[in-house]
Amino acid sequence: METLSVRCNHCGAPLQVSDATRFVTCQFCQSSLEVKRTESSIFTEEVAKIAENTGKMAESLEVIALQNEIEKLDRELGLDHMLATKKNASGPVAKIMGTMFGVFFTVVCVLMATGFSKAGAGIFTIVPLGMGVFGIVITIASLRAGLNENSTHSKYQERREALERQLEELKQK
Ligand SMILES: [Zn+2]
Repeated sequence: METLSVRCNHCGAPLQVSDATRFVTCQFCQSSLEVKRTESSIFTEEVAKIAENTGKMAESLEVIALQNEIEKLDRELGLDHMLATKKNASGPVAKIMGTMFGVFFTVVCVLMATGFSKAGAGIFTIVPLGMGVFGIVITIASLRAGLNENSTHSKYQERREALERQLEELKQK
């Protein structure tokens, strides 16, 4: 096997390589070198900076982690929607109906209480009044259910947007 003399492309130290060698590590500066040959010459070239590659790999791992987190968030949001829909029969329409029913119920109770007191029902006036309070509770509960879902949704949205911004920044590097 023929031995060839080349110089390290990084520090210039002389190296001996066999003619079959493709990769060699410089004994002086520890650079990873690729032995390149043209018809008339032989020289070495530093193998694409490993440190840089490692950095790129860490970055792409970070990108994958971010993408996974966004997917997870989407799944959670989807699950949340499913649970909310199950709990409240059929979403926004049911909530509007609930609110309207609460208002209607309250109005009817107030009218009944007025009628009762006009008829001189005395202590029995308390019954429609108590029912009226119940109606108000239903109304408030329905309204709050709607508001709660909206705030959960915007929290997800915010988190998701923050993650996407991070992802964009990474990709632009
Ligand atoms: Zn060297």
